[in-house]
Amino acid sequence: MTEKNIRVRFAPSPTGPLHIGGVRTALYNYLFARHHGGTFILRIEDTDQARYVEGAEEYIMDSLEWAGIKTDEGVREGGPFAPYRQSERKEIYRQYSDELIRRGDAYYAFDSPEELEQLRKEHESRGATFNYGCATRMTMKNSLTLAGKEVEKRIASGEQYVVRYRMPENEDIHFSDLIRGDIVVNTSTLDDKVLYKSDGMPTYHLANIVDDHLMEISHVIRGEEWLPSLPLHVLLYRSFGWDAPLFAHLPLLLKPTGKGKLSKRDGDKMGFPVFPLYWPYGETASGYREEGYFPEAFVNMLALLGWNPGTEQEIFTMDELIAAFSIDRVGKSGARFDPDKAKWFNAKYFQAKSDEELARLFMPVVEEKGFQPDFARLVKIVSLVKERAGFVRDLWYEADFFFVAPESYDAEVVRKRWNTDSPRQMTELFGMVAGVQPFTTEVLETSVKEWIVSKGYNTGAILNLFRLLLVGASRGPHLFDIAALIGRDETLARLGNGIGRLASTTA
Ligand code: GLU
Repeated sequence: MTEKNIRVRFAPSPTGPLHIGGVRTALYNYLFARHHGGTFILRIEDTDQARYVEGAEEYIMDSLEWAGIKTDEGVREGGPFAPYRQSERKEIYRQYSDELIRRGDAYYAFDSPEELEQLRKEHESRGATFNYGCATRMTMKNSLTLAGKEVEKRIASGEQYVVRYRMPENEDIHFSDLIRGDIVVNTSTLDDKVLYKSDGMPTYHLANIVDDHLMEISHVIRGEEWLPSLPLHVLLYRSFGWDAPLFAHLPLLLKPTGKGKLSKRDGDKMGFPVFPLYWPYGETASGYREEGYFPEAFVNMLALLGWNPGTEQEIFTMDELIAAFSIDRVGKSGARFDPDKAKWFNAKYFQAKSDEELARLFMPVVEEKGFQPDFARLVKIVSLVKERAGFVRDLWYEADFFFVAPESYDAEVVRKRWNTDSPRQMTELFGMVAGVQPFTTEVLETSVKEWIVSKGYNTGAILNLFRLLLVGASRGPHLFDIAALIGRDETLARLGNGIGRLASTTA
């Protein structure tokens, strides 16, 4: 197979928001395709009308776009194998269902859902499980047991039916998975799956196989939950006489506890998103984009959940991921999702951004708070506080005092630092600071420190009080940077205000 023939697909069903495990599947397909100079296809598998959710398809495409996973052929992009939405390919599947019947590998079944339910219940009451398969099919109402004429009559009269795959009896099926190696499954453990329904819709199995064949898919890379379907898929390829693609089933994403699969319901319950974007319909759910994650950090984090580069490197651009990715390094065991590690990745990307870029991203946050800062000043502010933040939104908490004077004072700091000498010392400081020329970080720092020594005061105590009055708490970057940046007038106003408001504390 030449590299040009590498064609992979991500084939989600639009049944709700796309889970981050789905994004990881898409990402691995994309990295694999790009690494080999192949094609990445997005196919929408929407044949299960009952599970169709409005808005989910757009959501899937928007998520991939946000993550920087570029689709070569798909619903939005079009392509030589269009349409890429299965509901628009209905006609195609019927022909293939018919063909399997002609070949004797599938049959019509007329058993009603009520009859099947009844059988299931009867078996259950005996502690057994009902399977429609080689052990039972000859006792059921289908084209294997009914006369040809009868079958024709039933179909012509519009009776509901399904087409089932005729699973061979007691045969060992050998196949292999690029991640899991060689697998053998005996067909006696498998049932006669429904492939097609008389409402004109194929089931997942038939549509998936037919489309992978027609779209010339070379590698099927998908979640481990599809591994149990693989023997049937391998048999379907054999029945049609087609070469099967190669398969790779990705390990599950596990809950942060390491126990059990990371489910759609875990996220907001455990305090982190499980979806790439905010989901706005019905039961809403948070998303990485809205939580302030950079898409590059999100993708980097996902890439390492199940794949390892074989080196200590953790930070990868998309191009580096493409260059390094290989299926051989995808693990077999589940990958534990760690929300703290996700934050860590974001902080890494955050710290790597220039002060200018962060200031540009921070600007709307500041504007929303009602301020119109000068850009150069904002860049300076960002440079002072960025090392304490990992997200753009954290910047406001780290820098709010550059914009607003304290409205209250941290009670703990007041209790520890503010005593009967404080009003006098701070008033002296006020007078001293009023005369500092020029009002820069360096000059201010030298002047204040010399003054403290000349007075015989405790440096730590005075500087802590100074910070308390400027910031309202004991947080923030270098004290003299804060004073220099808010300027002399504001520094004096905050000192005056603080002395006035805290005086009563010790009065
Ligand atoms: N439509 C299936 C899903 O929702 C696709 C599985 C596959 O990739 O074969 O995951």
